Amino acid sequence: MIVVLRAGAPEADVERVKEVIEGQGLRTRVVVGEVKTIVCVLGVSDRDSLARLIEPLPGVEQILTVLHPFKLASRELHPEDTVVTVGGRTIGAGELAVIAGPCAVESEEMLLEVAETVREAGAHFLRGAIFKPRTSPYSFQGLKERGLEILARVRERTGLAIVTEVTSVVDVPMAAQYVDVIQVGARNMQNYPLLETVGRFSRPVLLKRGMMASIEEWLMSAEYVLDAGNPAVILCERGIRTFETYTRNTLDLSAVPVVKRLSHLPIIVDPSHAAGDRHYVTALAKAAVACGADGLMVEVHPDPSRALSDGKQSLDLEGFRRLMAEVTMLSKMLRTPA
Ligand code: PEP
Ligand code: MN
Repeated sequence: MIVVLRAGAPEADVERVKEVIEGQGLRTRVVVGEVKTIVCVLGVSDRDSLARLIEPLPGVEQILTVLHPFKLASRELHPEDTVVTVGGRTIGAGELAVIAGPCAVESEEMLLEVAETVREAGAHFLRGAIFKPRTSPYSFQGLKERGLEILARVRERTGLAIVTEVTSVVDVPMAAQYVDVIQVGARNMQNYPLLETVGRFSRPVLLKRGMMASIEEWLMSAEYVLDAGNPAVILCERGIRTFETYTRNTLDLSAVPVVKRLSHLPIIVDPSHAAGDRHYVTALAKAAVACGADGLMVEVHPDPSRALSDGKQSLDLEGFRRLMAEVTMLSKMLRTPA
């Protein structure tokens, strides 16, 4: 349930509404919009009896029922788009945000080479995993903590903002000291202790869609991060598992307009993990931009044939330059009023 207060309602009215709701053992969250202030009720309540208590309070204009199980992530509560700011750059404000880099950090030299190339090509964010969630325990598991220092030094040298995945609650405090955006991967989308933990830090969170997750389950996971106090969530569609075998996953591009309608959170698309094959990455990236994604996450490696993980889906440096030229042109075209 959300309580909409009249435009210009004084602070005291907002406080009174909060007091009455919290007096019923519920929690509240206040969203101050450009025109109205909204108080969101969090918790399980009997709608009608609560509404009877709130209706007569000064400043109350309307009481609405949020139709979805996600509240803080819903557009009903937060009609304006959320814009996430990272190191002076924005995600969700209209400009295409491109996160590019290797699947995993393999060495400092390799990361720096990729970073310089993607920056010159127009990317503003560098990805590179150091904790690799691998299907096999015998595959390369990442450089772990040692990789954080490499990421930080490459940021220093290139000015790119760093995005890296955390796979465990215990790694969050350390990662939060080094990186600009914390990624929660597909395999951990429903790791609720991890979501609550990243929600308590001030770093933006890139939340990938689970490979078997519905859009609603994904938004409920975002809700965990928001409810823990972190408003900076960026959603990332990375393909879901279907019966199709010619691609690693099936990129669900319909998630972009669906999420844009249901939620105020920015959404980016990862065509690399969706396709699982570099031949399809640029086409899917362009499709993502065309359907309104706020950004892209793309895997890039100087020599994909020798990559320690996900080489098959990684673009080489030249391939990434071509992708950037195409998506930049498309993105500008779509933003130029006719
Ligand atoms: C990744 O981005 O490094 C990754 C492992 O992707 P996903 O969680 O989408 O599989
Ligand atoms: Mn990968």
